[in-house]
Amino acid sequence: MTPYPFDAPASQALLERALAVTPGGVNSPVRAFRAVGGTPRFMASGAGPYLTDVDGREYVDLVGSWGPMILGHRHPAVVEAVQAAVADGFSFGTPSENEVRLCEEIVARVEPVEQVRLVSSGTEATMSAIRLARGYTGRSLVVKFAGCYHGHVDSLLAQAGSGVATFALPDSAGVPKEMAAETIVLPYNDLAAVEQAFAAQGAEIAAVITEASPGNMGVVPPAPGFTEGLRRITAAHGALLISDEVMTGFRCSAAGWYGLEGPYDAGAPDLFTFGKVMGGGFPAAAFGGRADVMALLAPVGPVYQAGTLSGNPVATAAGRATLEQCTPALYARLDEAADALTAALRDELGRAGVPHTIQRAGSMFSVFFRDGAVTDYDGARAQHVPAFGAFFHSMLSQGVYLPPSAFESWFVSGAHDDAAVDRVVSAVPAAAAAAA
Ligand code: PLP
Repeated sequence: MTPYPFDAPASQALLERALAVTPGGVNSPVRAFRAVGGTPRFMASGAGPYLTDVDGREYVDLVGSWGPMILGHRHPAVVEAVQAAVADGFSFGTPSENEVRLCEEIVARVEPVEQVRLVSSGTEATMSAIRLARGYTGRSLVVKFAGCYHGHVDSLLAQAGSGVATFALPDSAGVPKEMAAETIVLPYNDLAAVEQAFAAQGAEIAAVITEASPGNMGVVPPAPGFTEGLRRITAAHGALLISDEVMTGFRCSAAGWYGLEGPYDAGAPDLFTFGKVMGGGFPAAAFGGRADVMALLAPVGPVYQAGTLSGNPVATAAGRATLEQCTPALYARLDEAADALTAALRDELGRAGVPHTIQRAGSMFSVFFRDGAVTDYDGARAQHVPAFGAFFHSMLSQGVYLPPSAFESWFVSGAHDDAAVDRVVSAVPAAAAAAA
């Protein structure tokens, strides 16, 4: 007997209304349950590690709004900062102190980032970083890796992860072929392929963009030496290296993935992109890096980039309050919770005889329903997706909300206390049996 029935009448009623007015009933494809079937849960509220849906059912949340909610929902320090900011006004279209404080916090945390520009989404951050790299180098080609997702930027949608992987799209319709031709897609973790591409077209390549540690095909950390190798090759050819830390930034450590793997002997990436955690659940993102590259941005230089709501005072207050809570104690707790969850998953899936591999980058991890290490997109796709679906629905019925896709990272928060972790752990045996 599971504590929750499968049906969700209030969510179903909202879905029907939503389907009438928005494609697929969702405002971002990854929220749909298309890959796993069933009714997407419409959430009414969140508190700490829990979400409550419109049917009144509570779930331990392991999605965390796809990464931002590193403190859990409604952390009191963030609520207080947001309320104070709202009381002062919503948007001024002028510089404001909150923006300066958030930029200072980012620059202080990520050593190679000398200057930063705030935007409102990770997509804007990567799009702007690419434009800046093209402006700096005067070249147009960009290298990206299969399975990495950098937002829905036209030129970066080729073999992208996240929803593009979930719905098995090779790329997106609507991207002109001339634009797609500006992108070279290479297998992840394959330095020989990068060497070859640069040997052939190095003088035309503006940048290599990579997820600092990919989480959008599931968690596939870089092999030792891979990032270092990218730095070496790009530097040798005068191309920039863009480390996309939208997902990993301030999550994997106080300085993101760079804080875990850097500094690199070959030098730091030239540009970084951030989002998710740095907005604390509000729309705030950023790109930044070397001061001489950032100096090309308008109004100083000729690369144009702008935003009506960039550096919004409420979003930046939420982001700063969130980052202030991102202390060594928080990262220690995230690790503890991730240790406990991954150990239980490994034990129970093993006991049930379900082929699986668990991969992790700090407090991000994912379960691939296949044996053996996953090092690239082909490996991620070679898993038993129906087993994930069975596992997902069993967990959901037991009050655990996982990403509704086999190709996503799971996120824990500092609010995942022992009680929340225990609730997940106690749901795993039945879910493992369902996946077997
Ligand atoms: N880059 C990475 C690594 C991401 O994971 C995402 C979103 O999941 C993005 C960029 C795009 O960010 P946003 O959804 O805020 O546009």
